[in-house]
Amino acid sequence: ARADLLRRIDGLVRLVPDYPQPGILFRDIMPLLADADAFADVIAEIAGRVDGHVDLVAGMEARGFLLAAPVAVALGAGVLPVRKAGKLPGPTAAQSYELEYGTATIEIHPATVPAGARVLVIDDVLATGGTAAATVALLERCGADVVGLSFLVELESLGGRGLLADHAIDVLLAVP
Ligand code: AMP
Repeated sequence: ARADLLRRIDGLVRLVPDYPQPGILFRDIMPLLADADAFADVIAEIAGRVDGHVDLVAGMEARGFLLAAPVAVALGAGVLPVRKAGKLPGPTAAQSYELEYGTATIEIHPATVPAGARVLVIDDVLATGGTAAATVALLERCGADVVGLSFLVELESLGGRGLLADHAIDVLLAVP
C-alpha cells in the first residue's frame, strides 16, 4: 500500500523545468492537492508516521500551510504558520538565513509557543534545507522542542538533510 501511495505521489507531482529560474526543476504539488483521495492518503500517511505527542504543527509559507493544517487536525494539535517577514502583526520573533543570492527572513508569533511545546515542522519540498534549518532555529529560540520534520519530497542531491542532523526527518518521496 505504501509503495502504491509513493507511485501515486510521484505521478501527481508535476515537474516544471526552469521555474522559477533557469536551471531549477520545480516540483509542483498542486495536482496532488487537487486529488481528493491522494491528498487524504498523504495527510493520513504523514500523521500516521509521527511518533509521540505533538502540540503544534509548524507549516512553512505557503505550501507548508496546506499540509500542516490537516496534519494538525489529524494529530489533535494546533497549527503554527511560519511566515515570510512582514506578514504578521507583532510581537514577532524573526530568523534570517542565507539564500543563493541574498538573505530571507521568517517570522512567528512566539506567544503561541508555550515553553517546551512539542512541535512538528512540515513543508512540501526539502531542497537545500536552509528554510527548514532556520525554522528549527527560530522555534528552538522561542522555547519549542522540535520533535521532527516531515516533507512530501526530498531532493537528495542538495544535501538539505545535513543542516538538520540533530532531528528526526520523515520523507514520503526521496528523489536523487
Ligand atoms: P530550501 O530552503 O532550499 O530547502 O528550499 C525550501 C523551500 O523552497 C520550500 O519551501 C520549497 O517549497 C521550495 N523549493 C525549493 N526547491 C524547490 C523545488 N525544486 N521545487 C519546489 N519547491 C522548491
